[in-house]
Amino acid sequence: MTRRLYYDDSYQRDFSAEVLSCEPELHGTAPAWAVVLDCTALYPTSGGQQHDLGKVGDANVLDVRDEGEEIVHIVDRQIDLGTVQGCVDWPRRFDHMQQHTGQHLLSAMFQERFGRPTVSFHLGSDISTIDLRGPQPSEDLLDAAALAVNGVIFENRPITVRYGTAEQLVAIGIRKKVDRAGILRAIEIAGADLQPCGGTHVRHTGQIGLLLLRGVGKVRQDWRVEFVCGGRAARFARADFQTLRQLGGRLEVPPEEAAAALERVFSERDTHYKNLRAALTRLAQAEAAVALSSTEPRSDGTKVIAMVIEDIHPEYLVAIAAEITKTDRTIALLVRRESGDIILAQNPSAKRDMPMLLRQLFEKIPGKGGGATNFARGKLADASEAAYAIETAKSLLTL
Ligand SMILES: [Zn+2]
Repeated sequence: MTRRLYYDDSYQRDFSAEVLSCEPELHGTAPAWAVVLDCTALYPTSGGQQHDLGKVGDANVLDVRDEGEEIVHIVDRQIDLGTVQGCVDWPRRFDHMQQHTGQHLLSAMFQERFGRPTVSFHLGSDISTIDLRGPQPSEDLLDAAALAVNGVIFENRPITVRYGTAEQLVAIGIRKKVDRAGILRAIEIAGADLQPCGGTHVRHTGQIGLLLLRGVGKVRQDWRVEFVCGGRAARFARADFQTLRQLGGRLEVPPEEAAAALERVFSERDTHYKNLRAALTRLAQAEAAVALSSTEPRSDGTKVIAMVIEDIHPEYLVAIAAEITKTDRTIALLVRRESGDIILAQNPSAKRDMPMLLRQLFEKIPGKGGGATNFARGKLADASEAAYAIETAKSLLTL
C-alpha cells in the first residue's frame, strides 16, 4: 500500500521513500519501468486531473497510475530497491492545483446560485471544462457565475481538508453524496463549498488568481463550459490582448474599437460586392450586345455566338449567356480559358438540345457536365483545349 503524501500536504515537492518494486513495463511502445514506493508526493491521474511529472531517484516520471491500494510510477530507467529521493515537477502541479481548485468554486457557484449541477470535469493541457446539466446557460448566467467565483478568489478564503465517514460529512453539509464506507476525504472552501475529493488544492482561494470563462457548447444533453485559472488566465488574457492589438493595428484604430471598425469594413465590403454585381451585369449586357450585332445569322436565321472569355469569375459566363439568349433564335457557346468551364445555352426558339450538344462535344474532347434543354454547363478535362472545344461545338451545330 502506498501512503499518499499529497493527501495531507499538497505543497510537498520533495520526499524520501522506500522502493518496494521495480518491474519492466511498456510506456506506449517504449521500454519503461513500473515502480511502487511505500509513499509518494506524486499525484496519479484521477478525478479529471492529470498525473504529475517529476523524478524518482535519477529516473524521470512518465506517468503515475492509481491502482487502488498502490500508486504505480512509470519511469524511464531502472532504479535499485532501497531508499530513494523523489520530487514533483512543481510548476505543472501548481498549475493543476489552480485549475482544479478553480473548478471546485465554479461548480459550487453554478450549483448553489443557479441550480446547475456539474456532471463531469476535465483538466486539459490548454483549457479545462465542466459539463453542466440543465437548460442552456445564458451569457448573463455565465458572467454572474464567473463574477461570483472571482469574488470568492479575491476574499482569499482558506481551503481545508476534512476527514469523516459518509454520515459525518453529510451532517456537516457535504455537497455531493457518497456511499463509500470508511473514512472519506473532503475539501472545504470556507463558506463556499464542501465536497468529497482526493485531489490536490491550493491553501487559499487567492492562489487561484483569477478565473476566465472561455466558451460554452452543447455536448450530448449537457453544456460544456470552458475555463482557465491562475497563470493560464494571465496567459490567455495577454494573448487575447495581442490579438486585439494586431486587429486594431490592421484596422488603424485602438484595440477597444476593433470590433466596431470590423463591422464598418464588412458593411463596406457588402456594398462593394453589390456594386460589383451590378457592374458585371451591365458589362455582360454590353458584351452580349456587341457580340450579337457583330455576328451574322446562319441561313436558318439562327445566331451562334462562340466566345473564349478570360480573366473573370466563372459566374460571369452565366451572366453573359443569359444576356445573349434573351434574343430570339440565339445560341451561346462560351468557355473560360483558364479553367475550361464551359456553358452551352440557347433561347428556346433555337430549338436545339444543349445537354446533347455537350455530350457530343465531350465524345471528341473529354470533360464532365450536364443540364436541361436550354442550358448546359460543364468543365473540360484539359483547359488548354478551350478554344478548340468552342470551335468543335460550333461545327457540331448542324443546320
Ligand atoms: Zn478537488
